Amino acid sequence: MRTAIFPGSFDPFTIGHYDIVMRGLDLFDRIVIGIGRNSEKKACFPLEERLRAIHEAFHHNDRVEVQVYDSLTVDFAREQNAKFILRGIRCVADFEYERNMAEANKQLGDVETILLYTRPEYAHVSSTLVRDLYSYNKDISAYLP
Ligand code: ADP
Repeated sequence: MRTAIFPGSFDPFTIGHYDIVMRGLDLFDRIVIGIGRNSEKKACFPLEERLRAIHEAFHHNDRVEVQVYDSLTVDFAREQNAKFILRGIRCVADFEYERNMAEANKQLGDVETILLYTRPEYAHVSSTLVRDLYSYNKDISAYLP
């Protein structure tokens, strides 16, 4: 069974994230979405709420799981029997960031990173944008799966 983890802070989990997971299911038998608690700067949406939202988004799909993890991403991958890390990229800045992470994760845990390009219509969607709108009491439902 080919397993990938999809790690992130998902603060909140957006339609951009959802799309990466759905497309990832063509490549992997099982995807474990990992909410990294260590990378918690100061989260806007409570962990329980993020967990619940992701559960709800994939309740119809038994090939997708969601977990919270505190460890290094490569250790979380090993725990989940995953040889792959799934990530998405929208722009050059994402690419540079992902390249550094991918190199580190390959060295630390021999885990391969698989990057999927964003769909153009989701290129502007980010958790940061959604948090900003939320802080001004705007409707964010169009950005959530
Ligand atoms: P992190 O805090 O680790 O950067 P995020 O929760 O922001 O995690 O995002 C997780 C992954 O999803 C990252 O690889 C990010 O580039 C990707 N991602 C976020 N938004 C989109 C989008 N709109 N389209 C494609 N990939 C995205």
